[in-house]
Amino acid sequence: MFVMIILGGICASFVYAVTSMENVSFIYRRSECDNCKHKLGWHELIPVLSYFFQKRKCLWCKQKIDISYPACEILMIVLYIVPLFFSLGLKDYTLYYLIVTLLLPMSLYDFRTLIIPNHMNLLFLITGLFLTNLYYVEPLWDIGAILILHLVYFLFSESIGYGDIKLFTVLTLVTPINFFIYAFFLTYIVGGLFVIILTLYREKMIPKIPLVPFISTAIILNFFLYEEIDQIYYGGFL
Ligand SMILES: [Zn+2]
Repeated sequence: MFVMIILGGICASFVYAVTSMENVSFIYRRSECDNCKHKLGWHELIPVLSYFFQKRKCLWCKQKIDISYPACEILMIVLYIVPLFFSLGLKDYTLYYLIVTLLLPMSLYDFRTLIIPNHMNLLFLITGLFLTNLYYVEPLWDIGAILILHLVYFLFSESIGYGDIKLFTVLTLVTPINFFIYAFFLTYIVGGLFVIILTLYREKMIPKIPLVPFISTAIILNFFLYEEIDQIYYGGFL
């Protein structure tokens, strides 16, 4: 468990950096402060702890550090250790850890900027197909799903971005088709509830909403409740 905590923190800060990179040069250079570009020393790079020891500020320019950095690290650590206590409904631990590792930073980044970086979708596609050994590729179902996704995009292009469509496309290829269908509908159930709650508290119309956080929440719920959802789904047809 201790190993999972360390690993979760390190993966979170590394993948978050990969998510926010604009070009490959990031591999050669050290992490820096978003504001003053001061290069961070090793003691400023410890996940979670640095953030609190530095009193949530950059040591050099005193600019507040974005909360999404420690949030990403804490959430990733939690999601890394949860499977040690609760077993997954879809018993594919490799896929679970891959999805948590890639989608959590993407969610926070989407939340902050409303952007889903292309290179992350590509990375997800390649590592996903590689790690699942193409096991979940079901050509007819997947092509069908991709066509429907594009139809959804053309009908509702105001409320869904093409980045989301690309992410869903990758998901249908790296997960079982049932899993994908449940995740898709759960995304809109979770998202819908969130919008309803938000509307109750705010009078104004809600501006654009990042979808990746809801996709990720839906997928993680789906991982744990897969068997139950499966029963409900088939129960409805019998
Ligand atoms: Zn700074």
